[in-house]
Amino acid sequence: MKEFLYHLIGQVLIITNILKYFRIKHIRQNGIHAIYSHNPTRSLFEGLVQWQKAQGYHFLSAEEVLEIIKGNIPTPPKAVWWSFDDGWLGNIENVLPVAEKYEVPITIFICTEAVEDRVYWWTKIRKYRHLLPTKYHDLNVIKTLSEDERQDIISQLDKQVTYQDSDKQAVNIEQLQMLAAHSLVSIGGHTHRHVMTPNCTKQQLEDEIKTSTEKLQKWLNQPLKIFAYPNGDFNGQEMELLKKYGYEAAFTTQRQIILPQTQNPFYLPRFGITDEGSVAKNLGFMFGIMQRIIKPLEHIIMRLKKLFIK
Ligand SMILES: [Zn+2]
Repeated sequence: MKEFLYHLIGQVLIITNILKYFRIKHIRQNGIHAIYSHNPTRSLFEGLVQWQKAQGYHFLSAEEVLEIIKGNIPTPPKAVWWSFDDGWLGNIENVLPVAEKYEVPITIFICTEAVEDRVYWWTKIRKYRHLLPTKYHDLNVIKTLSEDERQDIISQLDKQVTYQDSDKQAVNIEQLQMLAAHSLVSIGGHTHRHVMTPNCTKQQLEDEIKTSTEKLQKWLNQPLKIFAYPNGDFNGQEMELLKKYGYEAAFTTQRQIILPQTQNPFYLPRFGITDEGSVAKNLGFMFGIMQRIIKPLEHIIMRLKKLFIK
């Protein structure tokens, strides 16, 4: 029901030319339209790529994005760059075949603990939260805790749970190596434990960046130059450390076009799409329109529900 409603809104955005208005506005900025996703379905990613191909977009690799940022090459018109956060196993099954079919370069930001563990910490919470005190059942609450507290909660679960095969949603080292060796795939850093960087002490943050960078360099035998902030969060203590460990650019989840040479390369924006639903809905996300509509809309739906339940 909800998905259908979002699809309808997406269709309205297309039919009324609102989407076209935003698309032209973006193109006129002559920057890079960076898009990030996590674990999209194959049909969704393919539908969006087909749409972009039909519109004449120019697909960039991470290496090209870096060269543009440094001013070494010009930004081509209608430049777009696709990235995927966390290193989901589903990326091999659903994203890579589409990237190959349409020759679209993709970038995957990896949190190294998940590659070793195979189980994301938020999956542990979502699936096994009944083993925790009620106050920790909300993932959004965990995301506000100090890193010590977060680690403590996860280790409580690790002691009690034998994780199932179905919990293992991240790529393993061999799969990551296969991805990194692929000509269309670039790899970036995303911390070791997928920490909320503002919740870390400086020492914890340095350990996170150091550990993940060293592991990726060892596994992939290549330098790491780009980083994506987990959860899109940052508080300014990251940049100096990222530079120390060799990074040249970092990406947020702020919904803007990348304007090379006018923005700080350690705070480059990206538009997020969701993992599922229709192409129309996610076109709305890709241009940052849907995010503005959904929050007030969900608020209204919640109020209506309460009214009817009464
Ligand atoms: Zn992430």
